[in-house]
Amino acid sequence: MRLSRYFLPVLKEDPKEAQIVSHRLMLRAGMIKQQTAGIYSWLPMGFKVLRRIEQIVHEEQARAGHIPMLMPTLQPADLWRESGRYDDYGEEMLRIKDRNKRDLLYGPTNEEMITDIFRSHVGSYKDLPLTLYHIQWKFRDEIRPRFGVMRGREFLMKDGYNFDLTKEDALHAYNRHLVSYLRSYERMGLQAIPMRADGGPIGGDYTHEFLVLAETGESEVFYDSQITDLTFGDRQIDYDNVAECQAVLEEFTSRYARTDETHDEAVYAEVPEERRRTARGIEVGQIFYFGTKYSEPMGATVRGADGAQVPVHMGSHGIGVSRLLGAIIEANHDDKGIIWPEGVTPFHVGIVNLKQGDNSTDAACDAIYAELQARGLDPLYDDRDERAGAKFASMDLIGLPWRITVGPRGLTTNKVELTSRRTGQTEELSPQEAIARIAQIYQPVLGVTVADK
Ligand code: ATP
Ligand code: MG
Repeated sequence: MRLSRYFLPVLKEDPKEAQIVSHRLMLRAGMIKQQTAGIYSWLPMGFKVLRRIEQIVHEEQARAGHIPMLMPTLQPADLWRESGRYDDYGEEMLRIKDRNKRDLLYGPTNEEMITDIFRSHVGSYKDLPLTLYHIQWKFRDEIRPRFGVMRGREFLMKDGYNFDLTKEDALHAYNRHLVSYLRSYERMGLQAIPMRADGGPIGGDYTHEFLVLAETGESEVFYDSQITDLTFGDRQIDYDNVAECQAVLEEFTSRYARTDETHDEAVYAEVPEERRRTARGIEVGQIFYFGTKYSEPMGATVRGADGAQVPVHMGSHGIGVSRLLGAIIEANHDDKGIIWPEGVTPFHVGIVNLKQGDNSTDAACDAIYAELQARGLDPLYDDRDERAGAKFASMDLIGLPWRITVGPRGLTTNKVELTSRRTGQTEELSPQEAIARIAQIYQPVLGVTVADK
């Protein structure tokens, strides 16, 4: 993309309404525009990052054998009356009447609808296991929408639902989700720690929230510092292997890590004192096993091997896709702006032309731009007629991880500068070397295609 042709409405001043850094930087970098409390338009660059995050989620769900679909945002109230949640949900649910006075609602989540789809089409244990998911907008009329996209009213969520014959199988689905979530967050450049959460009325040990540590997090968390040493990395996993997935769950959940909702001083006291940590965290996902909570009242049963009808065991698993933009920025910025991790950056590399209008500099930039694109990379070329200082300030603000700076002086010896946004370190290289370096850096990030299992 050439910046002169793009729509990137960068703000010069800090917006007054933003209380936290990610909100401020998203507004300043022209990524979002608030339309009313907790409801945002996604301007092109914000939309691009949102899409990159969605893509990672899709790829990792496909790897785990989970099947994508799409359910509507509006749902009939009757389904929620069947589960009893129409009355229980309270003011957070946006209730709507259509012209025929039928009650609808803007879905805050989809357990009822997916259970309805399941009961309409699946009748035998032979069709199990089954995990379906979608990435769709949700609406929750939060009392206090704030912090930009972190606590919106309309927000994008990935929500997945597993259907299994037995509790044992459903717990394997739970573990698959845990593994796929660990992989997803790491690809986004985040460490999200699974913490034992409150199962609410469902109870039991079978829910974990994933938290990104950040000062601005809304949850207070308590953990054993050893847990921050764990990474999933690029190890291979067979998602059909029950023991392998269980081992990952045990590895990542055996150390103390809880939110204030489940914190237990007595258990925490068993952690050696020098490893006890208190911090704040942003919830970026949650997984649940809830058994037959919905399948029983809604009649989602299958014929078992012995011919008897049994309610299926279910779980639901959510990732806060739009909240993740805020969380990623909270964890990756400095006083000049955002520092995107390579996995989610809106553009892979910025090209700064120091002397726009100079024939040889323009030609060199055009050639670099074309070559990067030919290699499957997505560069942003700042071809505006602006001072170098202004171009650098915009690049730092929008936070592309790499910048290639091209000026007439360097070109006399066939040199450009390659600068890392994170470290600020600059190297002088030939244009070909700089392109090769960028291609190499992004090789692990690009071209991940996963066929549906
Ligand atoms: P919270 O405790 O933050 O209100 P929740 O536990 O009610 O969230 P879930 O039902 O677990 O949310 O939804 C799955 C994910 O969706 C959450 O982990 C979070 O990342 C995201 N999410 C929930 N509410 C919002 C919101 N108002 N704005 C943006 N993202 C949200
Ligand atoms: Mg939650």
